[in-house]
Amino acid sequence: MSAVSSSASPAWSAEDEARLIAASRAGLSYPVIAEQIGRSVCAVAGRLKLLRSAGQALPAKLTGGTVRAWTDAENEVVIKALADGRGQHLVARELGRSDKSIKARFNLLRTKQNADPRHVETIRNCRCCGKKFKSTWCMNRLCAHCGSKS
Ligand SMILES: [Zn+2]
Repeated sequence: MSAVSSSASPAWSAEDEARLIAASRAGLSYPVIAEQIGRSVCAVAGRLKLLRSAGQALPAKLTGGTVRAWTDAENEVVIKALADGRGQHLVARELGRSDKSIKARFNLLRTKQNADPRHVETIRNCRCCGKKFKSTWCMNRLCAHCGSKS
């Protein structure tokens, strides 16, 4: 390690800043951006904070990993997992996302689901045995008994 301690880090050029903004908008995490533009994570975080307060439209602070937009297919997996009562960590592993990200999505979709009239509890005839049962959402077509058999 060199003992050079420069209190003044190199000034940000317009080009550095442009790369920083582009990387941030691409959803890259601070450590990844820092490596790309050859600055410390602190420098990246500090600069982004400054740019944000100066009115640059930048995504909210990321804590780690890259943020990918959720696809419909992924939402389906989460909705299905919610209905099946599958563990969030299993879904996280399946989708290659963090547990935290899955948990947030579960909560969001659960809220949406509850707000959706299709998901209001209703009495349906079981698709398997034909008996009436209380269905909690539109994809729930089997009574508890038949559902637990499958
Ligand atoms: Zn049934």
